[in-house]
Amino acid sequence: MINFIPPQKAAELAFDMDLTEGNWCPVNRATMESSRHNNIYVIGDSCIADVMPKSGFSANSQAKLAAVQIIRNLRGQDPVEPAWSNVCFSRVNVEYGVSIADIFRLDRATNRIILTPDSGGVSPLNASHQFNRMEALYQEAWIENFVADSFG
Ligand SMILES: Cc1cc2nc3c(=O)[nH]c(=O)nc-3n(C[C@H](O)[C@H](O)[C@H](O)COP(=O)(O)OP(=O)(O)OC[C@H]3O[C@@H](n4cnc5c(N)ncnc54)[C@H](O)[C@@H]3O)c2cc1C
Repeated sequence: MINFIPPQKAAELAFDMDLTEGNWCPVNRATMESSRHNNIYVIGDSCIADVMPKSGFSANSQAKLAAVQIIRNLRGQDPVEPAWSNVCFSRVNVEYGVSIADIFRLDRATNRIILTPDSGGVSPLNASHQFNRMEALYQEAWIENFVADSFG
């Protein structure tokens, strides 16, 4: 079996639009606006979001922040203090789910996105059947909301 992973980088469009530095797009972390061109917001895998995993969950969280900051900008308001989240769900079977969750914030001193201390959580190794069953149910609810959020 060959598990081929191509070189990972932003899409060609991002390079054509001069949004990249190296393989990815630098952004103003507080707003997700490109730091190379005004009024262009880059979210998801293409953007440089430091410790945030490149995941659909992260992309969704970044999109929500960008939307809020764009609205505030249009209203002449200051940006809100940013925060992001990511949860990686794994559904082992219909009744058994595990997850790892993290909350992120902007460290103003370094201008980097960092993990909020003591904010995350991992499913315990010795969880009860009921616990993992609930996790599987949470995942069902999450995917329903995520798809509605993303596609309406
Ligand atoms: C096997 C696998 C499993 C994963 N599992 C999970 C998971 O369980 N949970 C999770 O949160 N994340 C998961 N991810 C990660 C997740 O898929 C990505 O992080 C997410 O899709 C990134 O979203 P994006 O919008 O940034 O990029 P993409 O989803 O890559 O979307 C970019 C889109 O832009 C389009 N595009 C590119 N160029 C152009 C152009 N010139 N004109 C028009 N369109 C263009 C592309 O066709 C593409 O549809 C997984 C990824 C993989 C590969």
